[in-house]
Amino acid sequence: MSAILPTPAALASITEKPRQTKVRHDVDVLVVGGGAAGMMASVAAARQGARVLLVERNGYLGGTLSMVTLGSICGLYAVTEEEVIPVVKGLAAELIERMAAVGGPSVPMRWLETASMPYDPVAIKMVGDLMVLEAGVKVAFHSLAVDVIMEGQTLEGVIFESRDGRWACRANVVVDCTGDGDIAARAGVPFEHDPHGIQAPTTMFRFGGVDVERAQQLSRDQLHGHLERAVASGLELPRTAGGAFSIRPGSMHMNITRIVRDGRAPDPLNTEEVTCAEQEGRRQLGDYLTAFRKFVPGYENCFIEDIGAQIGVRESRRIVGEYWLTLEDVVGEARFKDAIACSAWPVEEHAAGRATRWRFLAPGTYYQLPYRMMLPRHVDGLLVAGRCSSASHDAHASMRVAATCMALGEAAGVAAAQASASRHQPRDIDISKLTSQLLAQGAFLGASFIA
Ligand SMILES: Cc1cc2nc3c(=O)[nH]c(=O)nc-3n(C[C@H](O)[C@H](O)[C@H](O)COP(=O)(O)OP(=O)(O)OC[C@H]3O[C@@H](n4cnc5c(N)ncnc54)[C@H](O)[C@@H]3O)c2cc1C
Repeated sequence: MSAILPTPAALASITEKPRQTKVRHDVDVLVVGGGAAGMMASVAAARQGARVLLVERNGYLGGTLSMVTLGSICGLYAVTEEEVIPVVKGLAAELIERMAAVGGPSVPMRWLETASMPYDPVAIKMVGDLMVLEAGVKVAFHSLAVDVIMEGQTLEGVIFESRDGRWACRANVVVDCTGDGDIAARAGVPFEHDPHGIQAPTTMFRFGGVDVERAQQLSRDQLHGHLERAVASGLELPRTAGGAFSIRPGSMHMNITRIVRDGRAPDPLNTEEVTCAEQEGRRQLGDYLTAFRKFVPGYENCFIEDIGAQIGVRESRRIVGEYWLTLEDVVGEARFKDAIACSAWPVEEHAAGRATRWRFLAPGTYYQLPYRMMLPRHVDGLLVAGRCSSASHDAHASMRVAATCMALGEAAGVAAAQASASRHQPRDIDISKLTSQLLAQGAFLGASFIA
C-alpha cells in the first residue's frame, strides 16, 4: 500500500516539458480582463483606431458587475442636499444610457450621504457585448492569462490557456484589468497585498418572494436594527449593516454576507482559503434566510432566488505605480496635473466586525485620480487599470467602486492607443493629448478641465 502512495518528496514539485507556444494575435493594445475597467479600456482604445484584443476568463463581460452581481453602480455622483452631480461621465454614462434603453434604471438612488445607479446585471452582459463589437474589439472568452512575455523590463505580450490550447498574444501595450493585478505581478511589478489587512469578501445573492414596497420603506438603520434583533435571538450573522436594492418585482439584491476566517478576510490569492470562503458564503445564506423571514418586515415569504457566480473579492493586489493614491488625497479633494478621472465615493471599509466603516467626502466635493496611478513602477509596455491600480488600502476603499474603475479603464484605453500609435512607452506619452481626447469624448476630469 505505502509503495503506491506518493511520498511528500514526490509531491514537492515536477519539471514540466519545454514547449513551443503559437502566437495567435499581434495587436496594438491587449486588454486582459473584461470587467468595469477592461470593457471601457478596450472600447476606448478601439475607438481611437487601435487593433485591440480583449481576453476574459469568463464567457461574458462585466467582471464583478455580472459574475458577482452588485446592487448599484457606485462612484458616479457627488451629492449635496439639493443636487446629485455626475463626476464620472464618458463611457460609463454611455453604458448606463444603453442599459436604460433595454429597460434598466436611469434615475440615481440616494442613500446614506451618497447616491448610486441601480443596474441590471443581465443587461450589462448584453450591452457590454454590443459596445465592444461595435467598437471593433476582438474578444477571446474562456481564456485565462497564465504567463507574460518579457524582454528585459518591457512586457511584450501575454500567454493564455484555453480549451483549444495554450497561445500567445504580442502587443505594443498591455492593459492589466484583471482586478487582481495578475499580469502586473507576473511581469515583476511591485505590489501590496496583506491578507491580514484586506477588506472582507461577500457572497452576493437575491431574495425572491419579497414584498418590495414594504422592504423598500426600511432605512439602512432600520434593517440593521432588525438584524441585530436576530443576532440577539441567537442567530450567528457576521454582518448586520448592508444594502438591499430592487430592480424587479418581488426581488431584492442583498449585499449582506461577510466572510471572515480567524479574525481576518480569507486570502483571495490562496486557493484553499478562497475555496473555503466560497463554501462559507453560501452556508451563511441559510442563516440570513431565517433571519430575514423572521425579523425583517417585507421578507416573511422570501426565498433565495439567485447567488452570484462567484464570491465578491473587494481587495487583493494593489500595484505600486508612479503615484500611490492616499487617504489624504481622497478626503482632501486632491488635484493633479495629470488627472484622468474623478471620484466622490466615500471610504467604504468592510472589516471583520458586523458593521461597515464609512468616511464621507464633504457635500458636493470630489477628488481627482492621476494617470500615474496606472503606470507601474519598473515595467514598460503596461498600464494597470481598475481596482488593482496604485493606491493605499484606505484610498482603495474609495476608488475601487465600479464607476471609478470604468473611468480609469477609459483613460487607460485611450492612453494605450496613443502610446501604440506614437511608438512611445505609456510613461512617455503627451498627457495633454490624453486629457484633450478624454474631454472630447465626454469624460469629466474636474471643473478646471474644459473641453
Ligand atoms: C462584494 C462586493 C460588493 C461591491 N459592491 C459594489 C457596489 O455596490 N457598487 C460598485 O460600484 N462597486 C461595488 N464593488 C466594487 C466593484 O464591483 C469592483 O471593485 C469593480 O467592479 C472592479 O472592476 P475591475 O474591472 O477593476 O475588476 P473586475 O470586475 O474584478 O474585473 C476583472 C475581470 O478580469 C477577469 N480576469 C481576472 N483574472 C484573469 C486572468 N488571469 N485571465 C483572464 N481574465 C481574468 C475576471 O474574470 C473579470 O471579468 C463591490 C465589490 C465587491 C467584491
